[in-house]
Amino acid sequence: MARLRSGSGALIRDLNRAAILSLIGQRGPIARVEIARELALSPATVTVLTRDLVQDGLVREVAAAPSRGGRPAVLLGLVGEAAHALGAKIAADHLAVMRVNLDGEPVSVAERPFDATAPDALERLGDALAAIVAEGDGRAPRLLGVGLGVPGIVDLPSGGVVESPVLGWHALPLGSWLQERLGLPVLVDNDVNTLAVAERLYGRGRAVEHFVTVTIGRGVGLGIVVGGELHRGARGGAGEFGHVRMVDDGPLCQCGNHGCLETLVSDAALLRDARSAGIVGARDGIDQLRARADSGDAGAAAIYATAGTTLGRAVAGLVNVLSPQLVLLSGEGTQAWRHLEAAFEGALRRDLFAPLRDVPVEVDPWDDAKWARGAAALVLRATFAAPLYERQPDDAVRERLTAGVARGV
Ligand SMILES: [Zn+2]
Repeated sequence: MARLRSGSGALIRDLNRAAILSLIGQRGPIARVEIARELALSPATVTVLTRDLVQDGLVREVAAAPSRGGRPAVLLGLVGEAAHALGAKIAADHLAVMRVNLDGEPVSVAERPFDATAPDALERLGDALAAIVAEGDGRAPRLLGVGLGVPGIVDLPSGGVVESPVLGWHALPLGSWLQERLGLPVLVDNDVNTLAVAERLYGRGRAVEHFVTVTIGRGVGLGIVVGGELHRGARGGAGEFGHVRMVDDGPLCQCGNHGCLETLVSDAALLRDARSAGIVGARDGIDQLRARADSGDAGAAAIYATAGTTLGRAVAGLVNVLSPQLVLLSGEGTQAWRHLEAAFEGALRRDLFAPLRDVPVEVDPWDDAKWARGAAALVLRATFAAPLYERQPDDAVRERLTAGVARGV
């Protein structure tokens, strides 16, 4: 439970300092006079506190804003290299990792093989991340923390307890275990949520307050952004779109129910239907099925058309409930989009409530690194979160930024 802080002059000074950092982090370069107005601080207080932040190497004067008459105002921006954050997307068979600077700009990307279903998966994950953390030691700026995106439900990013049928992880205290192992703050969220965060901060979601990110491929995922903020729902369970039942007596889902959306449109579902129709062999994978469709095979085309119709109908229901300004489609399954598109569009537009029928749908090129960037952004968001409330390990992240500087680390 969050607890409002109260206290001394020094504490208020720290809060104001954190509030200024937070404002610059969220808004980008901003004038001192604007900071004073936004935070209801006196210009003298802002001058003193920003001078300290500049001396500490966290903030720098970046550009002169044009102004009508008088002197141009100097803008204050973050020093990107003051600190880094690490983000990782955990998939069943690999890790995608990205290191970003304080501005969220990518510094490096890496991919590591990883077997999430191995009995010692947690230890191996800890070893892999520790090695990546160690790579930057001594050379790169200090790490504020590690953000992780996992395919499953996470109670709270700061709690990091994961429930993931896909990975076979049940009530796994991933966040606290890794925090102990790495000696760094660790924040965890559902992987599609981290993708939605990346879209909101760095992608097409920057221009819209309300959007959804739907992912297709191994499963079906959903990230919901409402009023500019990620909607996680109670217990982090929002967005389990893949487990909406579409048919009675349908195929068994890995969640234990029958006829979920995922059992009809995931890669495994398409392969199951293609194999039973003799379109691909028992050993063929999704790439072979897509190749059949690419070469004009009518049976393969029909499999994709059926899946496109089902997905379009489901997304229509989603739009009718949430009324987003934009629907983003992503995930490895979009590699076959040209085979899905016509049937998807037909079903979507037909089933949408008429006033919402023109909602734009955009397909995002498949990019693992973007998910990892969103995971790293979990750490940056914690750094710049409203500083009035104590949260763990959100405060721990922010303190690494400011205390580390004061100690000259
Ligand atoms: Zn299911």
